[in-house]
Amino acid sequence: MIIVDRVTKTYRRGTVEIPVLRGLSCTIEKGTFTIIVGPSGSGKSTLLYLLGMLDEPSSGEISIGGRKLSTLDDRTRNHMRRDEIGFVFQSFNLLGNLSAVDNVLAPFLTNPRDVAEKRPAAMSLLKDVGLGDRLDHRPAELSGGEQQRVAIARALLKRPSLILADEPTGELDSENGADIFRLLRTLHTELATTVVIVTHDDRFLQADDPVLEIRDGMIANPAAAEL
Ligand code: ADP
Ligand code: MG
Repeated sequence: MIIVDRVTKTYRRGTVEIPVLRGLSCTIEKGTFTIIVGPSGSGKSTLLYLLGMLDEPSSGEISIGGRKLSTLDDRTRNHMRRDEIGFVFQSFNLLGNLSAVDNVLAPFLTNPRDVAEKRPAAMSLLKDVGLGDRLDHRPAELSGGEQQRVAIARALLKRPSLILADEPTGELDSENGADIFRLLRTLHTELATTVVIVTHDDRFLQADDPVLEIRDGMIANPAAAEL
């Protein structure tokens, strides 16, 4: 379970302060497919980055699986970020000079032994997401939907307990978006991983999943914000 307790996040640009999250609280139950919605600029990506430990709150506390993120030492933080949390971005964030397989292995490229050991799993994941015949393609040689599949395989290679997806279908046409939608749904069902997804995509809003609506830096649907 993830508990977000009165989290604030204020960005600073020079002397200007931009308060984005203003004491936001919510809980995300383990194993759910939780959807974050809200107007553009409301702080959805900011919240996701905090959950993914890519940034830190200005105040307040986030705990994941009973661990308070603010109390972790660097080693544990890096370990959680690298090995337990899979991030899928709107713009894929693939490395242009690497093949599909090497992109899937990218989080482990600093450790040659990990890479050798994980290569078969990376290939098998690419097959699972329908890219078995694209292993050596570079991102520029793949469609948007295919690039997002590579990014999803990259997230899955960690066997993450948490998948965070920031508008994963936002840059895809409707057919590719539908594919990625089905893939994320299937993965969630099969792997029983917690998925937290920011999306405007109606397809994601049709089922009976928890929805967190961010407005004015807080959760706007109070039931979801109860601790
Ligand atoms: P959303 O994903 O809901 O569209 P974001 O979380 O990306 O919103 O951004 C929320 C607000 O914070 C926006 O006004 C944005 O301009 C601002 N912001 C985001 N990141 C930074 C940053 N690194 N520095 C300054 N302002 C930022
Ligand atoms: Mg965003």
